[in-house]
Order: sequence, then C-alpha cells, then structure tokens
Amino acid sequence: MDMDKLVSLCKRRGFIFPSSEIYGGLNGFWDYGPLGVELKRNIKDAWWRDNVTLRDDMVGLDCSIIMNPKVWEASGHVGGFSDPMVDCRKCNGRFRADQLAFLRFDTVKEGEAVRTPVFFFGVGSSLEIYKQNAKRIDKLNDSVKPGEIMHRTEGTFAEADEPVRIRFECPTCNEVGTLTEPRNFNLMFETNTGAVADGSSKVYLRPETAQGIFANFKNVVDTSRMKIPFGIAQIGKSFRNEINPRNFIFRSREFEQMEIEFFCHPDQAAEWYAYWRKTRFQWYIDHGLQSDRLRLRDHDPDELAFYSTATADIEYSFPFGVSELEGIAHRGAYDLGQHQKFSGKDLTYFDEEKKERYLPHVIEPSAGADRATLAFLCEAYQEDQVGGETRTVLKFHPRFAPIKAAVFPLVKRDGMPEMAEKIYRDLKKHFNVFLDEKGAIGRRYRRQDEAGTPLGITVDGQTIADGTVTFRDRDTCRQWRVASAGVVQAVRDLLEGQPIPAAE
Ligand code: ATP
Repeated sequence: MDMDKLVSLCKRRGFIFPSSEIYGGLNGFWDYGPLGVELKRNIKDAWWRDNVTLRDDMVGLDCSIIMNPKVWEASGHVGGFSDPMVDCRKCNGRFRADQLAFLRFDTVKEGEAVRTPVFFFGVGSSLEIYKQNAKRIDKLNDSVKPGEIMHRTEGTFAEADEPVRIRFECPTCNEVGTLTEPRNFNLMFETNTGAVADGSSKVYLRPETAQGIFANFKNVVDTSRMKIPFGIAQIGKSFRNEINPRNFIFRSREFEQMEIEFFCHPDQAAEWYAYWRKTRFQWYIDHGLQSDRLRLRDHDPDELAFYSTATADIEYSFPFGVSELEGIAHRGAYDLGQHQKFSGKDLTYFDEEKKERYLPHVIEPSAGADRATLAFLCEAYQEDQVGGETRTVLKFHPRFAPIKAAVFPLVKRDGMPEMAEKIYRDLKKHFNVFLDEKGAIGRRYRRQDEAGTPLGITVDGQTIADGTVTFRDRDTCRQWRVASAGVVQAVRDLLEGQPIPAAE
C-alpha cells in the first residue's frame, strides 16, 4: 500500500487536512475533516464502550490539560522526558539521535527514572558492525556514570575486543562530521498561567493523559465506591514537541490518547498484566486488523524502565515500517509512590474486608487514537476491480465507518426522490446516513466506497411496484432486496454483524 495514495485520499475526501493549511500548515499538526472526525470518534466511542461502559470494574475521567506543574516533577517528565537531538551544520537537518542509533537505555539517578540515552551513530556497514558489537558495547556502557551522556564524534572503543571505528554521517545530506553534539530536548510544551510570565507561572501542556488519572486516584476511591481491582480510563489530547513529527498522523505534536490505569493488589498484578496484554491485542484483531500485520512484542529486560517488571507493545506494520500502536506496561507502585512522595498525601488503599492497607500496583494500557485511526485507515484501504474498472474502497469495520448507509433514488422522478428522502429521514434517527441524488448510480456507489460506507440503499422502479429497495454491500458489491418498511432493522442487523444474504 502506498502511503501517498492514502494521504491524498484523506485530503480529497475530507478525512484529514494539514492544520491551518491556508497559511501553509504547521509541521506536526493535523485537522480531521467531516469524514475523519466521524471515523476517529467511532474508534474512541468503541474503545470507551468496550473498556468502560460494558465493564463493572472501570470508571472514566476527563482531567484538565494543564495541571499543577508538580504533577510533572513527580512523574519524572520535568527531569527526564526528553529526546536527544542533533543538528546538521551543513543542511540544518534536525534528527532524534536515538532514531539514528540502535542503543539506548535507562539509568537511575537518585531514585528517579532518568532516561540517559547512550548512543552510537552509524550508517551502512558500520551499523551492522555496531549491531554485532552491541553486547560488548553494553558492557562498556555499564561503566558510564548515571546521568552522563557518552558521545564521541569520531574514535575507537578501546575496550571492545576489536576497535570499532565510528563514523558520523548526516542521514539527509550524507556529509560526514557535520552533526552537532547531541543536546537533550524536553518534549513538554511550556506556557504561562495568568498575566505575568515569570518562573512561578510556568505550566505545561500534558504530554500524556495518565498522570491526571494518578492525581485523581484518591478522589475516585473516596467518591465512587470502586473496590480494587478496578481501572480508570481517560481519552484526551496530549502534546509533545516532537523533534521529527512524521509519517502523517503517526507522530504529531498534538494527538489524542486513550489510556487506562488499572489498579490492583501487588499479588495479582502479574495476572492482570497478562489479561490486559491479551485483551488489548484482541481488540485490534476484532476490529479488522489482520493478525499478520499486527504483533505483540514483549520488551527485553534491558528495555524496561527500572520500575517496570514487564511491558509489551502492540505493533502494526505500517507502510513506513513496523511501529507502536499501543503499549501495555506493568508499572508496579511507581506512579502512586511518586505522587505520594511529592504531594505528601496518603495514596494507599484500605481493603475493608481483609483489613489490609497497601499501595496498589498499576497496569497501564496506553493507546493513541490517531495512531489507531491511521492503522485502521491503512488496513481498510484497498484497490480492486469492479466491472472492469479499478475502484478505491475503504473496508472499515462497520462500527468505525463514518457513514453507515447511503440512500439513493435511482432517478429523479416517479416519486423516487420522495421515497428515498423518507427512508433517509427514518434511518437518520438511528445512524449517520447520507442521501445522494446526483449523478450516475455507479459513480454514487464509488464515492461511498471511497468513504467506506458499508451499505448502499437504492430506491428504484421495483420500489414503486412492490415497496422493496435494493441493498448493496460495499465489500462484495452483492445486491439483494429488502422491504422498505424493514430498512432500519435490516441496517441495524447488518451493522451488528449479521451476514449478508447469499448470492442467488
Ligand atoms: P514513541 O516511542 O513512538 O515516541 P512512546 O513510547 O513515547 O511512543 P507512549 O509514551 O507510550 O509513546 O504513549 C502511548 C501512546 O500514545 C503510543 O502508543 C501512541 O499510540 C501515542 N503517541 C505517543 N506519542 C505520539 C505522537 N507524537 N503522535 C501520535 N501518537 C502518539
């Protein structure tokens, strides 16, 4: 699948536009158009329904985007939420050093998690040499003091068995030796509250929704009668000043997250981790992502944050490579512990039945609504042959389809437009539907195929005679007749998974 084709379809059909496009856009920001907003909303609604509404052990929250900055000190984001950035002096390209490299690990500094990137650049054959030497280099890294960034512009590793020569090359202009020393770049957007912009008014746009949940854990326990094990879910905007926003809506600077913090007894945490890892993976499969493009990757022990005993990423094979859709992390008691320390408030939980007080452990399934939207778009995009012509079709799961059915009068006479309008009005009370009266019927079908509309409903000559309408299935183009009085129920049944009638 060609990413450019998808981007252009998204633009042409009103799924996704570059933000503030009439002014030339803004790198890393996107707007959802009339079809896109329905698609993303359907994904978020399905996530909310499956993870909150249909469960007894989950509640929701909607926290403010700007919070007391102490939240971000406690979470480690003020000190450690940064990416190493390098610039090319020749072409002015800016890169995330760890994306040019292949080694990175976390170190611990005074009990806090501090991401200390240790990296080695390399291109071409030298990258392969580094990969082979990764284990030896790891040992070498053990000697690096916490917080220290090890970086050399050119040189050899004396400790490695065989000296490895490091070459630095700009990935854009391929010039050697033009990259600057890496600088740590904090990804949080800063702003000020109130009229005076001084140090005391500095606040941050949240880089994740999770911390609002931890900060409200006590409020929820005190007010909702939820008993552990239980989870809190939140969907909302997050902001990261990404060094290289890219790959369409995959990595942007403003995006939406769908996060769960599931609180449980430390003895049950391993079981709940296994449960969420499996459940979240299955959710994507159930909504149409083919399992051979989807994978669940467990982190190696050396990839884990120091407080996490297990983390898995749900990854999807996008046209630009295999990348993370969602992470499921066993975070232990780290977050509540940090907030307890920084706020001075007791965040322990008291189990009335067992008369036991403890700090709950947390399992965090953290997904991105925009990345999910992109994965579902990539998966749905197909070109096939219909009647000797190539058509572009978005084969969305019916739950996600922006428009559920389109109603067409075959011609604009003989009472057909009036009948079509009545069916459209009846359906509109229940579903997002579309009425299209203009153009050849084949063209109208194609337009809806491109929008991903699962059902077409045509009022034709036979409707006048026997009161039935033609139903058309988007994926197979198969057609069959349904009594017009039963259209609402027929659409509901089909959207809920009832198979379409077999061909006659
Ligand atoms: P990456 O390594 O790709 O930067 P991450 O591991 O930092 O991602 P998390 O902090 O675990 O991401 O965030 C949880 C989820 O939020 C991700 O799985 C992704 O779906 C989404 N997300 C994170 N950053 C972005 C972004 N810049 N644009 C869109 N979605 C994002």
